[in-house]
Amino acid sequence: MTQFERLILGMIARDEAAEATAEQICRRGQSFTDDVLCSMVTVDRAGHLHPFAGPGLPPTYSAALDGIPIGPHVGSCGSAAFLRQPVAVTDIFADHRWGPYRRLAEPLGMKACWSSPILAGNGRPLGAFGFYYRDHRGPNRGEEELVAECVGLSAILLDRWERSAEVERLAVVDGLTGFGNRTGFERALHQVSLGRGAAALLLADVDGLRRINDAFGHATGDRLIREVARRLRRAVPHARLFRITAGTFALLIEGADVGVGLSRIAARIAGAMRPPAWCGPHLLAPAVTCGAATFDGQAERDPERLRQDADLALRQAKETARGGFVCFRPERAAAAIRRRQGMQAAARALAEDRLEAHYQPIVRLGTRQVIGVEALCRLRTPDGRLLPSGHLAEALRSPSNASLVTDRMLARVARDVRAWLDQGIHLQHVGVNLSQADFRQGDLVARITAALAQYDVPRHLVVLEVTETVELDDGGRTVGTAIERLRNAGLRVALDDFGTGYASLAHLLDIQVDIVKTDKSLMRRFAVGDTGEVLLTALLQMADGLGFQLLAEGVETAAQAIRLEQLGCPLAQGFLFGPPRTAAVTAALLPRAAPAGSH
Ligand code: C2E
Ligand code: CA
Ligand code: CA
Repeated sequence: MTQFERLILGMIARDEAAEATAEQICRRGQSFTDDVLCSMVTVDRAGHLHPFAGPGLPPTYSAALDGIPIGPHVGSCGSAAFLRQPVAVTDIFADHRWGPYRRLAEPLGMKACWSSPILAGNGRPLGAFGFYYRDHRGPNRGEEELVAECVGLSAILLDRWERSAEVERLAVVDGLTGFGNRTGFERALHQVSLGRGAAALLLADVDGLRRINDAFGHATGDRLIREVARRLRRAVPHARLFRITAGTFALLIEGADVGVGLSRIAARIAGAMRPPAWCGPHLLAPAVTCGAATFDGQAERDPERLRQDADLALRQAKETARGGFVCFRPERAAAAIRRRQGMQAAARALAEDRLEAHYQPIVRLGTRQVIGVEALCRLRTPDGRLLPSGHLAEALRSPSNASLVTDRMLARVARDVRAWLDQGIHLQHVGVNLSQADFRQGDLVARITAALAQYDVPRHLVVLEVTETVELDDGGRTVGTAIERLRNAGLRVALDDFGTGYASLAHLLDIQVDIVKTDKSLMRRFAVGDTGEVLLTALLQMADGLGFQLLAEGVETAAQAIRLEQLGCPLAQGFLFGPPRTAAVTAALLPRAAPAGSH
């Protein structure tokens, strides 16, 4: 082994910077003659050249070569790497292979260039080693020997460098999409914050991913993620793309057009998602909700702030513009913080048992008699205010909160119903809302019947309200079985918010329920011949055959009530008949059974 070989192999073994080792190799090539400059370029797996070392070459020259695809007529190095054999061009100015690159070499006084490929064990080009001459000449014998030595060492160096670069790359790449992963995102975000130019962070969250995973399995969910990734790449080709959680993509967009441009980008993303996509055997409608923030208005470019702002915008979008886009604005942040505080207040109220059941009357349309109520949950703040149900909806997203709400409501409702019955109140129907989480726990029937038994409330009075979306989430199976068990236990079940979900009518054929409650949005489309009336008529025709009763929710006007009655809808609920009120007020609205002995 020569002294030089020992030096280079030592540097490689000590993992010294590969670029520095490559420079050493080039210097060795230049050490014998004055009229020679050496350079090393690498070739990536896509076949593009990248400058790696060139101690005598100006950076502008190297930079000009970056990214050029190799080919049979691409200068000396591009040709040598492509042909996998040495290429000696003795006159740069006459040789067609140098056509486009001549103007780069000319100011440097280069006249000839001899390049040797650097090949991996399997023959793939790793790079090329170039010899530039100030004369029209090719290599002499001594140079050939020297270059053979340099090329051999370069192959070892580049092979090892490529492998460690690959390991490093994999550490920041998301295996599913090929985008950067969370670590890659953090690094890139930090880098962007060090720069000066305009930059934006756009977060794109895949809508309904959990539901799709639950209903169709993770393989389908993964397919959807890959499809969304492909569409994002096409919609925003100049962004740097990352997947930072299962269903959240982060797009770093640098450039001047960030301000108004962002809404345009978001619109392009929404457009790209529009066509339905086959994910295995399932035809899905991909959709993303986007939130973005920019460094505008930040005194210092704080990457953590940018991310929090974008997060906040995304959360707002999810609440108010699902499938759409919200850009962070400082003045909006205050409202979001208030909302978050509301949600925390709801969680605290639950923990501290400040939950109340309010009751909304349900009437029989033919007689306008109040035949029952729906129990609706309200949260009382320590200073005595009632929290609107919007906060409850947030809190209900957590499964533990959701089943807590059900248990507390069941206890309150059982107690109130017992009190009413004891006062001689005549009541046929008490609706209680269930959540998705209630179906995940196997003991639902036992929980309900135990709560009722404690106050000796007859089971047939209780109508458990299940929303259509709850049903779809589980592909219908577990919920269907649970509904059957509830009914077998003597409880009744209502399908709530009917007409807002997807396969509404199909559900009715699969799962037997006692009551179908049409969603209040239907009342808004309830003119003669409008969709609301068409659906209602169809449902009324099905009701007898399928053994359910129809209850129209959200009845606000006398005209709606009259039309419902004409169509033959038996039950209704809505502000026309009264809003949800406390148990005490409700007691006064409910009919009393005739006292014993009266006529
Ligand atoms: P929901 O089960 O569909 O309840 C009916 C909602 O419609 C109630 O809102 C009620 O106040 C409102 N409403 C009643 N009549 C009318 C009307 O004529 N017009 C309009 N526009 N709205 C009317 P609320 O009490 O704010 O409850 C909202 C949602 O929160 C409920 O929708 C239900 O999904 C959920 N929720 C309420 N209480 C509970 C509960 O105890 N447990 C569970 N799991 N969810 C609950
Ligand atoms: Ca309900
Ligand atoms: Ca409803």
